[in-house]
Amino acid sequence: MKDINVLVINCGSSSLKFQLINSSSEEVIAKGLCERIGIEGSQMTYTPAGGEKYETKTPMEDHRTAIRLVLDALVDKDKGVVKSLEEIGAVGHRIVHGGENFASSTLITDEVIKAIEECNDLAPLHNPANLIGIRACQELMPKTPMVAVFDTAFHQTMPQEAFLYGLPYHYYEDYKVRRYGFHGTSHSYVSRRAADVLGKDYGELKIIVCHLGNGASVSAVKNGKCVDTSMGLTPLEGLIMGTRSGDIDPAIIEFLCNKENKSVQEILNVLNKESGVFGMSGGFSSDFRDLEKAYRAGEAFAIRTMQTFAYRVAKYIGAYTAAMNGVDAICFTAGIGENSPFIRTMIASYLGYLGITLDEEANAKRGEEIAISTPESGTKVLVIPTNEELAIARETAALV
Ligand code: AMP
Repeated sequence: MKDINVLVINCGSSSLKFQLINSSSEEVIAKGLCERIGIEGSQMTYTPAGGEKYETKTPMEDHRTAIRLVLDALVDKDKGVVKSLEEIGAVGHRIVHGGENFASSTLITDEVIKAIEECNDLAPLHNPANLIGIRACQELMPKTPMVAVFDTAFHQTMPQEAFLYGLPYHYYEDYKVRRYGFHGTSHSYVSRRAADVLGKDYGELKIIVCHLGNGASVSAVKNGKCVDTSMGLTPLEGLIMGTRSGDIDPAIIEFLCNKENKSVQEILNVLNKESGVFGMSGGFSSDFRDLEKAYRAGEAFAIRTMQTFAYRVAKYIGAYTAAMNGVDAICFTAGIGENSPFIRTMIASYLGYLGITLDEEANAKRGEEIAISTPESGTKVLVIPTNEELAIARETAALV
């Protein structure tokens, strides 16, 4: 592998996460976060490897200003980690939606930027922010190669029976209304790691990845290719999430518009921001740590919420086992998947038909790459911490 420093950039509408990673040692040299970009009270946190965390409150009127601050911190003579920007060999940008235009990561050119712009309609909150990040980096580092890594790319191998909706076909032809899936970088990274952990050939395994974080999705990976995933045209479909509803009967939208005298936009806002475990728990919390405490205290709202969450995950596992005609390994990842033995146990309680039993001692661990099923288990259950930034850095280094 080449020895370059890759700056990984993940631009949200008002935030920017970054990591500088060395492609050969895979060490994180520095990392941080800019928040409230374009809003009063902007602040940056920056942590050089082995050093203390710096917090700076500076106005950031736009993403360009934020990236300028990040680059200044990286070359700063006291807290910096490189002598000049020339020591940054490439930039890897996380792009949320690549539509059908991108089935893999790609070097950023003017045509690529245009093709990403064409997907703005499909991810109106995310893609424009991602593009602002690309343009700002290009202005400040005009000679540095940049790579786009798409959340949707890994899922482009889904067959049409998995990606088509039961809608008039011309909506797909005219507007590309289909299922795309998200969290692809994570599903790809975790499924590959699963093959390594099992010491088996990635191309010969049936793997189900449960990415359970604030956003949550499941994917079915057969012989190294994604064959189905739970998110759809947008990241609203599928599992019950922190604040997103996941699958619902689409007729509910009109029903609620009429009952509450609200617009479609307002109800969609409820489905995205006020639903999921947050909404189900009556607005108690979207954080599983809080819900788990309330569950243990016997609170009915927490019991119904967590049971429904776990049941939905188990249903998807069943569906994907059918889709692949079997499953060799089920992986848990992301905030909840990596850290909640409680939720993993709840989900596994539905999986006896796969011959799964959990090793209680292994399952009690958090955030470790570990097999949590017993050696006798028919299907292996693994916890694999995801690392989207490292995956983006690898893809970037491989392309420049
Ligand atoms: P992510 O989006 O991957 O950062 O995951 C965020 C979610 O992980 C939040 O809902 C947290 O409540 C959850 N989480 C983090 N740590 C724990 C933990 N120790 N137990 C349960 N859930 C956790």
